[in-house]
Amino acid sequence: MYRAAKDTPPCLDNATFAGNVEVQASKGRGRGLFTAKDVIAGELLLCEKAFSYCSSKHSKTSILINTHTSQATLGTQADLITDIVQKIFRSPSLMPVFTSLYHGDYEPVDEAEVDGMPIIDTFLVNRIVSFNVFGCPRTSLENHSAKSTSESPHHTCRIFIKASHINHSCYSNARRSFIGDMQIVRATRNIPAGSEIVFWYAIPGPNYTYEKTQEKLKNWGFQCTCAICQQSKKIKKNVSSKRLALLEALKAAFGNRTSADLPKAERILNAVEKTYTELATDLPRLALWHPYLLLTRIYCSKNQQDKVIETAWKVLKSLGFKIKRQNPLSLQSPFEIEQWGLMEDCLT
Ligand SMILES: [Zn+2]
Repeated sequence: MYRAAKDTPPCLDNATFAGNVEVQASKGRGRGLFTAKDVIAGELLLCEKAFSYCSSKHSKTSILINTHTSQATLGTQADLITDIVQKIFRSPSLMPVFTSLYHGDYEPVDEAEVDGMPIIDTFLVNRIVSFNVFGCPRTSLENHSAKSTSESPHHTCRIFIKASHINHSCYSNARRSFIGDMQIVRATRNIPAGSEIVFWYAIPGPNYTYEKTQEKLKNWGFQCTCAICQQSKKIKKNVSSKRLALLEALKAAFGNRTSADLPKAERILNAVEKTYTELATDLPRLALWHPYLLLTRIYCSKNQQDKVIETAWKVLKSLGFKIKRQNPLSLQSPFEIEQWGLMEDCLT
């Protein structure tokens, strides 16, 4: 697959697999993608070929002007719209599949054909693309391994029909990756049958705040109501101010890493822990995992193995992992993951 993904266009000779998922109504958010059976962390949920695909490398630098909204669409995304219009015109049976995707409040034209020729509502195509387009690398592996290429990390635009039904949540239970024109979605936690599959459209990174998250999502026209956002919304002002002040003090304690005051950093992190009321296993503590990871790296550079183990466990605990260990201070000790947590990008 990786060899085939090097070709241009990188169209893989593989088929879509969607046996573990099904589209269902999702309360308050239209439709969503749900598990059709119990799945365990790491299991394949969906492997889907792109419905349409365009690469910036071969962009015809098209410009499309939407006379409804007076907005212009440029480059690869404009090429994608053109490609979809031509594809549906040549194969009108694909129209219902594509036009069933979310298109906001746009009212499509009623007529499907005139004089035996299909009518393609290009405004509708434009709206669907604007809400559902995926900006992807040629392969996620290349992207993660940071190999230098002349291509930008998100140099292709694609539309996936099934994967477009996956709704947003900061408390994601799935992870996606790309290879050529395929998207692969795997479970990152154990998910019972009939549960909604969710992943983030905007990553709730270490600097997560409720306000910043809603701002990032406004282009999709909804507000996130996941457990993390709900808890963050109701946090008292004095608690959030205290947490922010502690995190500022933590930055000063870390300094430029070589001069870090590690005992002080640990004391501050302990104080940040106390600003949370819910258990980390119930709700990840987003402000903590990144500083603990930094602490782990610093202890690693100092070859302090006990501290490396202790802080690495705290990284995972902050993200909601529940791990049973026979000997907490030994790397060789067997352990069992009782609950999987949030799968942040730089930890995978
Ligand atoms: Zn959220």
